Amino acid sequence: MADSVFEDLPYLPEFGTVEEERQHRKVRLAASFRLFGRFGFDEGVAGHITARDPEHLDHFWVNPFGMNFSHIRASDLILVNDRGEVVEGEYGVNGAAFAIHSQIHAARPDVIAAAHSHSIYGKSWSMLGRLLDPLTQDACAFYEDHVVFDDYTGVVLDPEEGKRIAHALADKKAAILRNHGLLTVGHSVDEAAWWFITMERSCQAQLLAEAAGTPVHIDADMARLTATQVGSHIAGYFSFQPLYDKITREQPDLFE
Ligand SMILES: [Zn+2]
Repeated sequence: MADSVFEDLPYLPEFGTVEEERQHRKVRLAASFRLFGRFGFDEGVAGHITARDPEHLDHFWVNPFGMNFSHIRASDLILVNDRGEVVEGEYGVNGAAFAIHSQIHAARPDVIAAAHSHSIYGKSWSMLGRLLDPLTQDACAFYEDHVVFDDYTGVVLDPEEGKRIAHALADKKAAILRNHGLLTVGHSVDEAAWWFITMERSCQAQLLAEAAGTPVHIDADMARLTATQVGSHIAGYFSFQPLYDKITREQPDLFE
């Protein structure tokens, strides 16, 4: 019997050229922003998802500062270098996006993408300063694989604070930034976006359950097993595909 329903499924395609891979990441990033907009994860100008450039590994693609997530097309994305300068694109970069994401991409060579926004259930949960508990199959994706960054000091504009967030994140897939919101990372844009979406919903589910009573925990051995089944890189990538198919069919202008 297979250990996971996600084994042997289609994963990232092979790319013939770096240009193809770059375009693939940009389209996945634009689609992720459209989905974040659809789910109401936007709040004013807050929030950013980044994708490492496949050629210039210390550069990343990110949303233009101040553009509505629901309007972002692949061609709107900006490329930012390791000094926070926009080297491609017509728009400015959010200083917090650079301060946080540049340090995560630098500290984690395995991370292709990182997602952060001020979504309502993530930020509500973040106020408690607690890890998510293994209360559902879905939440087990984060079992022993996320941290609380317990050190709120205002809007993150100093790369030194980004460095401390990256240090707290260590080799995990997600961080709960206390009094702020969620941050997730992945080996693909798809994976980082999926972990964000499902983590937000796990925060919602735990808040609902704790408001109603005392939730029953999945025991540690079973939570650990479930994490290997639903928390792998391919599980995160594959879980995103139905959402990608839906948003690209409904909003094909994101490819522009
Ligand atoms: Zn933020």
